[in-house]
Amino acid sequence: MDLPKQIEILFRENSALANKISEEISKLAPRVVKKLGLDKIKIMNFCGSHEWTTTHYGLRALMPLEVELIPGPGCPVCVTPSSDIENVIKLAMEGYRVYTFGDVFKLPTVKHYKSGEIGSLAAAKASGADVRIVYSFADAIEEAKKDGKPSVFFGIGFETTAPSYAVLFTKEKVPENLLFYSSLKLTAPAAEYAVQLHKEAKRTPVSGVIGPGHVSTIIGAISWDFFPKKYGIPAVVAGFEPIDILTGVLVILNNLYRGKAEFTNLEYRRVATYKGNIFALENIKVAFNVVDTIWRGIGNIPKSGLTLSEKFKKYDAKTQLGIKEKPWDYDLPPGCKCNEVTLGLAYPTDCPLFMKACTPARPWGPCMVSMEGACAVWARFGSYERIKDAISEVK
Ligand code: SF4
Repeated sequence: MDLPKQIEILFRENSALANKISEEISKLAPRVVKKLGLDKIKIMNFCGSHEWTTTHYGLRALMPLEVELIPGPGCPVCVTPSSDIENVIKLAMEGYRVYTFGDVFKLPTVKHYKSGEIGSLAAAKASGADVRIVYSFADAIEEAKKDGKPSVFFGIGFETTAPSYAVLFTKEKVPENLLFYSSLKLTAPAAEYAVQLHKEAKRTPVSGVIGPGHVSTIIGAISWDFFPKKYGIPAVVAGFEPIDILTGVLVILNNLYRGKAEFTNLEYRRVATYKGNIFALENIKVAFNVVDTIWRGIGNIPKSGLTLSEKFKKYDAKTQLGIKEKPWDYDLPPGCKCNEVTLGLAYPTDCPLFMKACTPARPWGPCMVSMEGACAVWARFGSYERIKDAISEVK
């Protein structure tokens, strides 16, 4: 049997193991709550894909009442500021060809182009602008080289995506007619921000963090050990199968029970090493500088973004086209609670617009657009509220 199949059987299909782990969680959780004197143990995932697994496989239903699994700000599409999308729409309407990923296409802006109808790149394209969806920066480069048309690539993403841009800059593959609009973000500063916020908001504090598996393949699992060191909160790096997450929860509870906050790189060592991908990190360091940046609905988070380094400034759309960063202004559509959802302060079902004015087919807010957005995940795979509604209908 090949390795991927073995991994799938061990982490996804092994229901006996899943039952054993969830029984252990149920036994341990009341003891941890009693020992710590908390009303519950709140565990935050950072990654949209962890939220996907948690919701898709119904892991919350396996948790005892003492354990709450909350989503974090780990969806790059959800946190791309409205001002960035508005700037790129303006460039498209002024004649630049814009390349972007598919899930950015439908992202709604707060302010519309010239106060009219155009409030997304999809709407710009519908009105005649040259907006093209690509699977990668490499595809955009190939196409931009063909006809030399002035073009802009709208670069969003976290550290997982950054190397795919960085390597093409450092290898000097980018043509001069293709500018780069960076909306790149770094995960650890936002995770820290979210955890601090729960503390300051005088809510139940976050007692454990599940770090993003695939980001850690790049930045190294060790990037998350500041949680135990600085905040006394256990952190694990987990993969994306249900048993990865269940194991992560159990390890966090064990840490808490022993009164020893540690960092653990779990069984996801099969992919994420402690130090990460050195080649990718070196390329990111050459191509980009770390800067303060805006997260949608949240505002400025220090040292949480990437901009092109001096060496590659000739490709920087903001510098070359004189686009000035505006101070952050609240940038969610009226009624949207994405800021609370992405910070784990609310569930999607707490938003009155969820599955009413806001659906995956017609997203009103940014968390309903991408498959990594908590609202889109909850909309597609059900939620407690929707199950409750369905049961009451049957009755
Ligand atoms: S349901 Fe829609 S409007 Fe409400 S928080 Fe989610 S994305 Fe925003």
